[in-house]
Formats: sequence, C-alpha cells, structure tokens
Amino acid sequence: MAIRNVVTKKDPILRLKSRPVKKFDERLGILLDDMAETMYQSNGVGLAAVQVAVLRRAIVVDVGDGLIELINPEILSEEGTQCEMEGCLSLPGEYYETVRPEKMTVKAQDRHGEWHTYEVEGFKAQCFSHEIDHLEGVLFTQRLNPNPKSPEEWDEIYRARRAEKENLTPDLDDVKVIRDTKPGE
Ligand SMILES: [Zn+2]
Repeated sequence: MAIRNVVTKKDPILRLKSRPVKKFDERLGILLDDMAETMYQSNGVGLAAVQVAVLRRAIVVDVGDGLIELINPEILSEEGTQCEMEGCLSLPGEYYETVRPEKMTVKAQDRHGEWHTYEVEGFKAQCFSHEIDHLEGVLFTQRLNPNPKSPEEWDEIYRARRAEKENLTPDLDDVKVIRDTKPGE
C-alpha cells in the first residue's frame, strides 16, 4: 500500500464527473488499498478516488465502525435533513455547516463487483452524501446551510453532546469550535 497525494480545491479535476468502474481487477484493489491508507493517515473519514486524481466512481469510508468501499454507488432514497459542521481533505482547514440528508439508502458494488445495499443515518449519511457528491464534481462548499448556527450555538451543541457522551458535567474549556470562517471558493 502507498500514501497518495490528495489534490486540493485549486485542482480543476475536483469539478469533473467521475466515470464508472468497469474492471474489478487487481488494479482497483491497489487503488482502494491506497485510498484507505491515505484516508487513515490524514485522519479522514472518507475519500473519493478523484481526490487522489483518479476519475473513477470509487469511495472509501470509515466513520469509526469499519472500512466500507463503495464502487459505482447509487442513491436509492434520501430522507430528512441534517445541518452539521463539515470538512474535506481537499479543503484543509475549512469547516462549514452544510445541509445533508439525515438518512440515505445507497447501493454500491464492492471491489469484487458484488452489489450491497447500505442504510445509513446521521454522521455516516453525511459522509456518504459528501463522498458521492465528489463523484459528480460537487464540493461541500456547494451544500452550505444558508442560515448557519452561530459559533455560540455550536458551542452549546458541542458542549451538550460531549456531556452526553462522557456523562460528565459540561466544561466550557473543553469546547473547540472553528470560528470566523467564511466560505472561500
Ligand atoms: Zn471531500
């Protein structure tokens, strides 16, 4: 396996539509292995092939419950909306609030060409949506919430979530929110 270079938003390849994967061969396996290694090394939760300059419809995702490989994914249904902070390995240091489906049903092939159906929600749905967008040449800065929550509101949300997660009394000093960021296209 090898770490590949992640292209950044200045590279016009990120705006192009990726082509279907047709050959489920050793070369695809190497690409997917490299993508996973590159994602983990960057502490990312998802990576699309176009981000390593390969215009094919291949994605790796791991939100902490195991690696998923999505080849030629198709969205079967979407439900609800969620507005969460989001980032991208191709836009380092940029975090904005986006609008995404709360739940998604997606079918996709694995590296052997077998089809699987995934029902995902919450953060995993946000991640699936973000990565599938990459295959269409769409960046998360095109999914911004027009009425984002204020930094103070995000402080409160993160504080509450952290308290819930750790079952502890909220401690403001532990809250970190990216402030004063503006969409920079
Ligand atoms: Zn991305």
